[in-house]
Amino acid sequence: MFFSRLAQLFELLEKTSSRLEMTSMISDFISETPNELLPTVLLFLRGRVFPLWSEKELGIGDKLMIKAISGITSSSELEVEENIRIKGDIGLAAEELLLKKTQTTLFTEKLTVEKVHTNLVKLADLSGKKSQERKIGYISEMLSMGEPLEGRYLVRLILEQLRLGVGEGTVRDAIASVFDVDADLVERGRSLRCDLGEVAMIARIDGNKGLKEISMEPGRPIEVMLAQKAENIDEVLKKSNPSVFEIKYDGIRVQIHKGGDGIFLYTRRLENVTKQFPEIVSVAKEKIKSKSAIVEGELVAILSREDRHPRPFQNLSKRIKSEYRITELVEQIPVEVNLFDILYLDGRDLSGEGFLRRRKLLENVVEGVDNFRLSEYIISGDASEADVFYRKAIELGHEGIMAKNPDAPYQAGSRVGYMYKLKHVMETLDLVVVGATWGEGRRAHWMSSFLLALLDRDSGDYLTVGRMATGLSDEQFREITSLLKPLVLNQVGKEVEIKPEVVLEVAYNEIQESSKYGSGFALRFPRLVRIRYDKGVDDADSLERLRNLISQ
Ligand code: AMP
Repeated sequence: MFFSRLAQLFELLEKTSSRLEMTSMISDFISETPNELLPTVLLFLRGRVFPLWSEKELGIGDKLMIKAISGITSSSELEVEENIRIKGDIGLAAEELLLKKTQTTLFTEKLTVEKVHTNLVKLADLSGKKSQERKIGYISEMLSMGEPLEGRYLVRLILEQLRLGVGEGTVRDAIASVFDVDADLVERGRSLRCDLGEVAMIARIDGNKGLKEISMEPGRPIEVMLAQKAENIDEVLKKSNPSVFEIKYDGIRVQIHKGGDGIFLYTRRLENVTKQFPEIVSVAKEKIKSKSAIVEGELVAILSREDRHPRPFQNLSKRIKSEYRITELVEQIPVEVNLFDILYLDGRDLSGEGFLRRRKLLENVVEGVDNFRLSEYIISGDASEADVFYRKAIELGHEGIMAKNPDAPYQAGSRVGYMYKLKHVMETLDLVVVGATWGEGRRAHWMSSFLLALLDRDSGDYLTVGRMATGLSDEQFREITSLLKPLVLNQVGKEVEIKPEVVLEVAYNEIQESSKYGSGFALRFPRLVRIRYDKGVDDADSLERLRNLISQ
């Protein structure tokens, strides 16, 4: 399949904002896509080259891309940069420069989707000396084979800046419509395999029957079940009486897989963090007493094995981010896992079992020890008993409690009402940084004001909701600046546009209506609670959640 066909589809998608139109364009395209290309095409449509759970990365920044564009279009790097500034987008700049160039170039071979995929896989596998030049080589080869329009999308795809506004739900509906299968089954398959391409193939070949047979597999992360927020214990007990009340530990959610090849640890964003926690790998190997299993828990940084008081979240993120000096960090920042669920056991998918039954199986399979323990819980239908448990949790320094329906199944990837969180702090918002302003004077090297946005889950658009400029320590300014610097898309004066990637948890005094921001609302006195290293833009809060907060 020629890449030009995909580029034409991208252009059409970019021009429409109607979800229905998008779904129908994508359906038509999928029906003409051969089997072997389906996974690639679906990933590209979502602006990805590899599935979420894959550890492969392209690692191409704007600088390298500018070099490649400069080489292939015989423009200087300064000219490329100037063009980016004028066009406000590196893809459009590449297209324009390639347009000028094509008048003198004769194409011999046309660029295909297969070729793009092969080159990008090779590119991701490169490392070491000279790898930069070879990466430029692969990019240049593709740019020289394609038309300028293909260049626009190729550049954006490689930089992970495709931003077509095609949400996961749109692709799911397109798959359901073109293969005449149940959209809920497609969704279920997606949450278990985390790869729409693979699910689409199953839908095409085996229809609903094949989708129903999709199951979990150790070594393959699955989307976790999400919690809803509850105001108080009475509200929870109205939904489920009795409920299971558990401590809400303040760390990151971790999925631990035990299978043929060993132990794997995944975060809720499906990142593989096995390497960073060797002490958990070895204790899991020993204490999960089955051949294979998928268990879930909260990984928490603690003061010491003797004093299990939780440490601030930054400690845990330090461990997650560090790929070196791991042995040292194991000593410096001890962690523990508090297990609360089991989803798979020796070939059996347990997601259809009720929660309490799963909990019993977890207790049978795991022998709890000090850094690999079972979460604390009570079962109660009595609000005052649950309240005593809640207060005890807070006193011990935890975030609050979770309340779970004892009979509910595990619904991967969904925020169903089977699990509630009761936190003692004021509700915060998880917002995406989409812009920033460089500081002045003492802060000239830092970005000092951050434009924050909510995520519109349907369109994939970002809706701005305020600017945060106060309440940060120098260290926090520095840390956020270093995270945002590689994500700068465009700069005009001191204002920069930022590629949406970093999620910040933000507290505020009030939410007001405002025409100043895209969401129609503005946060008063937004301030940083923490950087959510554990959350991706898809986990950011939505306009709907903001509205709910206002109506409370
Ligand atoms: P939040 O991140 O505020 O939406 O709260 C939900 C998160 O709490 C889950 O994703 C888990 O990471 C975490 N958590 C902590 N303790 C528990 C528990 N006992 N059961 C389930 N989730 C828990």
